Amino acid sequence: MASMATGGLGAALAAEIRGQVIDPANDGYDEARALYNAMIDKRPALIARCADVADVIAAVDFARTNGLDLAVRGGGHNGAGLGSVDDGLVVDLSGLRDVRVDPDSRTAVVGGGATLGEVDHATHAFGLALPAGIISTTGVGGLTLGGGLGYLTRQYGLTIDNLLAADVVLADGTFVRASETEHEELFWAIRGGGGNFGVVTSFTFRLHPVTTVVAGPMLWELDRAADVLGFYREFLPQSPERLSGFFAFLTVPPGPPFPEHLHLKKMCGVVWCHTGSEEEATHDLAPVRAFAEPALDGVGPVPFPAIQSAFDGLYPPGHQWYWRADFVREIPDEAIARHVEFAERLPTMQSTMHLYPVDGLAGRVSPDATAWGYRDARWAQVMVGVDPDPANAGAIRDWTVDYWEALHPFSLGGAYVNFMMDEGDARVRATYRGNYDRLARAKRRYDPANVFHVNQNIRPAD
Ligand SMILES: Cc1cc2nc3c(=O)[nH]c(=O)nc-3n(C[C@H](O)[C@H](O)[C@H](O)COP(=O)(O)OP(=O)(O)OC[C@H]3O[C@@H](n4cnc5c(N)ncnc54)[C@H](O)[C@@H]3O)c2cc1C
Repeated sequence: MASMATGGLGAALAAEIRGQVIDPANDGYDEARALYNAMIDKRPALIARCADVADVIAAVDFARTNGLDLAVRGGGHNGAGLGSVDDGLVVDLSGLRDVRVDPDSRTAVVGGGATLGEVDHATHAFGLALPAGIISTTGVGGLTLGGGLGYLTRQYGLTIDNLLAADVVLADGTFVRASETEHEELFWAIRGGGGNFGVVTSFTFRLHPVTTVVAGPMLWELDRAADVLGFYREFLPQSPERLSGFFAFLTVPPGPPFPEHLHLKKMCGVVWCHTGSEEEATHDLAPVRAFAEPALDGVGPVPFPAIQSAFDGLYPPGHQWYWRADFVREIPDEAIARHVEFAERLPTMQSTMHLYPVDGLAGRVSPDATAWGYRDARWAQVMVGVDPDPANAGAIRDWTVDYWEALHPFSLGGAYVNFMMDEGDARVRATYRGNYDRLARAKRRYDPANVFHVNQNIRPAD
C-alpha cells in the first residue's frame, strides 16, 4: 500500500512495508494515535499499520536500527497508554485481526491485533467461546499477554490458561513459535509477562462450548452494600464454577434498560454469568435472592457475546480513565467498611469499583506454571475513575488513589498487570512476585537490549 507518510524516515519505512506509515504530517495522524484512555496524549514520530508478519519484522528492525523507541499497539486499551510512545515508532497490529476457528479441535488462531468482540463473533458461530474479558473493543493482544480475566475464568481459567501457542517476532527480528514444546521459556514468560518479550502476531487458543448463558446484573441499595458484599465474599468462592459474577459499586446509568426510579442512584451490584441451563442458574442463584431481594434483577438467558459487550455503550473510547488495582484473597469487615465509604463518594457516573473473581480453575494452576504469580488470589480488585470531561481528570484520579491507598493494606500486595497505570518498578515487581527473577532471565535471553520497554517493564537480568 502507498505510504501516507511524507517525512524522510517515514518514506524509508514505507519502502519496507505493505501497510500504511503515518507521521505527524498526515491528515489521519490524530485519529491513528488516539488511545482508548483520553487522559494519555502521546505523539509518536511514526505509526506503522502493519499488514502482515513481514511488516512487523520490518518495523521492529527499522526501529532498532534507527534507534527509535518502539511501542506495540494491539487494541490500544491499556490504561497507562502503553500501546504508544512519544517520538518513537508504533507497531500498530490493527491489520492483523483475522480469527480462524477450527470447530473439530475446538481451537482458534487469532491475529495479534484482533479485538475481543471479533473473537466472540467468530467463535459464537460454532457454539464456542474463549475465556477473556468483558468489553468487546479491548485488544486480545494486551489482554492475553497480561493474563486475561472475565466471566469464564472460574470455570475455564484465565486467557493464558487457554493459550496453546503463539507466533512471536523477537527484538532481533527473528520469528519463532512458542508453545509447551517450542521456546518453552518464552511461552512461559508471555503467559502473564506482557509485551516484554516480542510482538505476538498470532495466538492459538483452546475454546469451550459456551453459547447461551444466564447472565446480567442484580442491584441493591447502597445502604445494603456492607451486607451484600459480606454475603458475596462467602458465597461465590464455594459456588459451582459454572457461576461467576463480579461485584461492583456503580451509579445507575440514566437510560434503558434501567427503570427510571433508579437512574443516577449510587448502588452496589453483582453482574452474574452462568454457563448452565436456566434451571441450574435459578438453583445456584437462589441463596442470593433469598439473602436480599435485589432492587433490580436483570439476570436472564442471553447469547454469550451479548453479555460480553453489555457495557460497551457505557465505556466508549475517548474518556478520561484512571485506575488502581490489587489482588485480594480475604475481604475482612474492616475492608468492607472502607469500600462503602468510597462507594458513597463515587465521583462521576461511570466511576466504579469491581472485584473480578480469579478463583476456581484459574486458582488451581500452579503459581510457577505461568508468569501469573497470584493463583491464591480470589479476586482482582480495581477502582476506576472515568469521565468524558478532562476537567474532571484530577477528581477521578484523587478518588481512585485515595480509595486504593485505603484498601491496599488488605490486599496480597501486587496487582493484575493489565489494571495498572505507570506506577514504577516496585509495582511491576509486586505484580510478578516470586516469578519476577525468572522473567528477568527470560528477558535477558529474548530481549537483552530491552527493545520492548514501552510496557510494564521487566528489566533484563544482569
Ligand atoms: C474498558 C476496558 C475493559 C477491560 N476489561 C478487561 C477484562 O474484562 N479483563 C481483562 O483481563 N482486562 C481488561 N481490561 C484491561 C486490558 O486487558 C488492558 O487494558 C490491556 O492492556 C489491553 O490490551 P490492548 O491490546 O487493547 O492494549 P494496547 O494498549 O494496545 O497494549 C497494551 C500492552 O500490551 C502490548 N501488546 C498488545 N498487543 C500485543 C501483541 N500482539 N504483541 C506484543 N505486545 C502487545 C503493548 O505493547 C502494551 O504494552 C480492560 C481495559 C479496558 C480499558
